[in-house]
Amino acid sequence: MSPITATTTQVPVGEIHCQQNPYSRELQTTCIECSEKPDKKGFYQVKLHDTVLFPEGGGQPFDTGFIDDIQVYNVQRKKLEHIHYTKQPVPVGKQVLVKLDWERRWDHMQQHSGQHLLTAVLEQAPYSVDTGSWNLGATKCFIELQTGEAKKQRMPTPEELVIVEIRVNQLILDAVPVIVHTESFDESSKPESLPDDYVGGGTIRRVEIQNLDLNPCCGTHVAHTGHLQSIKLLHTEKARGGNTRLFFLVGQRVTDTLGTSLNVSRQLNNLLSVPQEAFVENVARLQQARSANQKTVKRLMGELAGYVAAEIGRRINKEDTDVVMLYREDADMEFLQTIQLAIRDQNILLGGGGGDGASNSNKVVVLAAGEKHLGGPMMIAASNDGALQQVAKTVTAALDIKGGGKGRWQGKAKNWKGIDELQKQLDQLKINA
Ligand SMILES: [Zn+2]
Repeated sequence: MSPITATTTQVPVGEIHCQQNPYSRELQTTCIECSEKPDKKGFYQVKLHDTVLFPEGGGQPFDTGFIDDIQVYNVQRKKLEHIHYTKQPVPVGKQVLVKLDWERRWDHMQQHSGQHLLTAVLEQAPYSVDTGSWNLGATKCFIELQTGEAKKQRMPTPEELVIVEIRVNQLILDAVPVIVHTESFDESSKPESLPDDYVGGGTIRRVEIQNLDLNPCCGTHVAHTGHLQSIKLLHTEKARGGNTRLFFLVGQRVTDTLGTSLNVSRQLNNLLSVPQEAFVENVARLQQARSANQKTVKRLMGELAGYVAAEIGRRINKEDTDVVMLYREDADMEFLQTIQLAIRDQNILLGGGGGDGASNSNKVVVLAAGEKHLGGPMMIAASNDGALQQVAKTVTAALDIKGGGKGRWQGKAKNWKGIDELQKQLDQLKINA
């Protein structure tokens, strides 16, 4: 099942149209190979003679676009070949028009050239900290600075990073030319940073930010730093091995992110009815009030539990009642525990709840909490273990519940659908322990 091929060769990675003309948005070319059948994920692999779509590499994500009207979802490099991934086959030998999703590419160019510039400024005195790797994320980028065990370089202080940001923005204002140098390479002149499978001869590209930085790179870059618009440094984060990630945004992402922040600010302004400057103070005050309220609720729930326990005690002391169940949809585990403690403190199951001890020797209390469809915790307390196990058996038969325990039974129900039926059964139940 060999793929269908035409006799034209492919322009190798290093010399493809998008690398030589990064501002080019479309290209007439020929399809030279296409897989007969889609792969397991449903993609055809299409080789074109040349392309305006950049294959993922050097930290820069792949481009998307179209071959005529067929959507290209991904472009990858295999050695020096470039492969387009489509969901429809492209006829081999056909003259095609490749069109680039320019907005996505332009964003990648801004982030990538911006990374080179930021890295260059940090590499120089007085900072002298190297970038080990970088990441172009969907919303944020970061460079990983070599502050870890391997190189132990010093991380610039937050104050220094403010100056770095000003310096990079000044270089953006200066519209410094970005020049790409090319040379053909063999194994002896291959730069270390090139991927291992980058073999078979070809072109090495070195990207220069004029008089500032020169680095091997296969990516697509802006013509001059003025096209970066602006840079904003964000937060830092510790990485593995003690390196430090410095997050940043370049170009349109700065404006977009400010737009998102303003939107959040507007919503908070509506919710809090205070201007942005007062958000922090206002939220801090709300949190204080909330924690005071929580303390009050806890105290009141404790008091309520005392009354509920006393009520349970009153009910259980009736001659004909062996089991009392209390179920509250709005309660939780903590509330059940508080009631259970109150039952213990009031000696309800030991006959201290107003009746005489003998009459309470076979008494059981069942406590349950949680919304009907969500289920929740259950606790069973009894004056003896035989009584406890008898009720637990009735409970597990009636409900979708798992639990266990001696002395005190505890479980968790998936829902309380059977709780009404259980109530009826428990009302009738006679403890025979
Ligand atoms: Zn690069």
